[in-house]
Amino acid sequence: MVLVGIARLAAHSQLLEAKREVEYFEIPARSILNRTRPNMPFQWTINPYRGCEIGCKYCYARYTHEFMEMDPFSFEDRIYAKTAPAVLLRQELERIDKREQIALGTATDPYQPAERRFERTRAILEVFARERGWYLGITTKSDLILRDLGLLREIARRNVLAVHITITTTDEKLARLLEPRAPRVELRLATVRRLRAAGICVAVFPNPIMPGITDSEASLDAVAKAAKQAGAISFGGGPLFLPGAAQQVFLPFIEREFPQLAARYRETFDKGVHLSRRYKDALAEKVRRIRARHQLISGPMDYRPELWVEEEQMALFPLT
Ligand code: SF4
Repeated sequence: MVLVGIARLAAHSQLLEAKREVEYFEIPARSILNRTRPNMPFQWTINPYRGCEIGCKYCYARYTHEFMEMDPFSFEDRIYAKTAPAVLLRQELERIDKREQIALGTATDPYQPAERRFERTRAILEVFARERGWYLGITTKSDLILRDLGLLREIARRNVLAVHITITTTDEKLARLLEPRAPRVELRLATVRRLRAAGICVAVFPNPIMPGITDSEASLDAVAKAAKQAGAISFGGGPLFLPGAAQQVFLPFIEREFPQLAARYRETFDKGVHLSRRYKDALAEKVRRIRARHQLISGPMDYRPELWVEEEQMALFPLT
């Protein structure tokens, strides 16, 4: 067949970019609650997926794919949804102490695009919506969390719930470069507004704070200011941390996009996975200053779920 016109042009076009293919798998899990190391602000984590399609350049969690003998680049292309998370959760909650904090979404975003179809996070929230007395935090960059607003409200009536929205920068162009498939910053701020309007406690975290990229006073101040205007209660932030697999992705990215920073990044991360104590202390002081300027708190947020208050009142004024 002889191709003519637009068909011929199309057939001879130069490939600019091949669209990435993401593959989804189901993976059996032995447990859904994972114990953290001592001195963490939470004692248990839940990650309904392995891998994260959002594919942030700085993501520290790429090492989790190494456990499955996969290269760190496949972290965003091969996504594993855990089997039956609700069944596991119901069984495991019976065995843990209610005073311990549970963090949902520490090594993958629980509202990454896969969640739209596979609803593993939703299944977990349905369990918490029937429970009472837990301390739960959810971390995400995605406005997809608004799909579950009704469940979140129910959870917050019965449990202490905080949602942490990650916003590394208010600069949309920079965000697109760092977090290519995350929702736009404006959508994330709108998510903060909607969650607050529904009475949910919301924190904004500019994590990870990246030296020379997002760590200036002006950059962090802009995030805190936008967070406050959107109604966030709490603000905090910690520095970049690059375990080996994350370095394989992030350092070449720095060389390509921020060549003026490349030598300093290489020198720093040749020595280990963390930034220096001096840098961390100066950054913590900067975050404290900015938080105070915008009258934001560092958390935990002080509120009593509606049902707890009702029960306490009933206990104070017994009817019989
Ligand atoms: S959204 Fe979070 S888990 Fe997903 S790639 Fe980005 S940093 Fe990693």
